[in-house]
Amino acid sequence: MKKNIILSFYLLLLANLTSAQQFSLPSLRFEYHAYEPYIDAQTMEIHLTKHHQTYITNLNKAVSGTKLEKLSLNQLLLNAGMRSDAVRNNAGGHYNHTLFWQILAPENKQGEISNELRSAMDLEFKHLDSLKKKLEVAATKHFGSGWAWLIVTPDKKLKVTSTSNQDNPIMDVAKERGIPILGIDVWEHAYYLKYQNKRGDYLNSVWQLIDWKMVSSNYLAALNDTLLQEIADDTWPEIKEFHKVMAQTFHSVEKNDFLPIQARSGEMLAKAILLSESVIPMSYQKPEIKTALIKLVKECNELDKLVKKNAKKIFIKTKMFQAHDTFHLIQGLCKD
Ligand code: MN
Repeated sequence: MKKNIILSFYLLLLANLTSAQQFSLPSLRFEYHAYEPYIDAQTMEIHLTKHHQTYITNLNKAVSGTKLEKLSLNQLLLNAGMRSDAVRNNAGGHYNHTLFWQILAPENKQGEISNELRSAMDLEFKHLDSLKKKLEVAATKHFGSGWAWLIVTPDKKLKVTSTSNQDNPIMDVAKERGIPILGIDVWEHAYYLKYQNKRGDYLNSVWQLIDWKMVSSNYLAALNDTLLQEIADDTWPEIKEFHKVMAQTFHSVEKNDFLPIQARSGEMLAKAILLSESVIPMSYQKPEIKTALIKLVKECNELDKLVKKNAKKIFIKTKMFQAHDTFHLIQGLCKD
């Protein structure tokens, strides 16, 4: 009996831990006053505990009890254009501020830039000063509230860009997409107490607080993040379409359920042909990809024929695995 009570208590605890994802406020890396004289303690405190906290509270409210509550923050951002304004603004607000706090440090607590990031910067901007200038232009020319960004694009290059409100470059609504490794908040709430309307003075100050060691580790993480692949897929709608059919048929075949592929082998062939004839985005332009696309059409054609003539399941399964391998040569590692 006692054992049963302990067990049900444990199960209840487990259920609670695995239930609704609630986003929560991160803590700052340093005390509020540590960022002075560049950003005053009061601004830091209000910015974190009032503004950032409000995005989190509203995000939790917007997703709770809906099917969105099981999604990660990145997944909420990726398809922000299909979500409500409440989800788009508050998921963005939470992500953007979390990155902002992470890359700021007092001067004597900042680390060095990595060799990898320095070479990538030299390639794109020649000099750190010209990156600074580009960020300033992005931030000062931006009308109204928004963010200036340094991002890693799907073809793994660095780029400076800006977005409005709480949007960010992960979102499908952004013109230039990628993973941000540095973000500067250019909402008035980020600087008004100390700098009033002088956005330029604030930008000069915030530049003194950037911890290049953090930005460097963000750079490395972004290069290896599967999210970059997802953003790349977004810029190639035909691969997304093909991937859907592949994902919804292949995993069933793995479990010896052939019904989905029997129903959709023709559709998969059609999507493979559309994919092979589509415009290949820059980030995918390699000779191996072209060869693999031709191979994929051939294998989907053979698979369709095997299905249509009711071939032995082992032949269908083998061909399906071939097509799946070829697809992932093109698309990168399997995520489902
Ligand atoms: Mn802010």
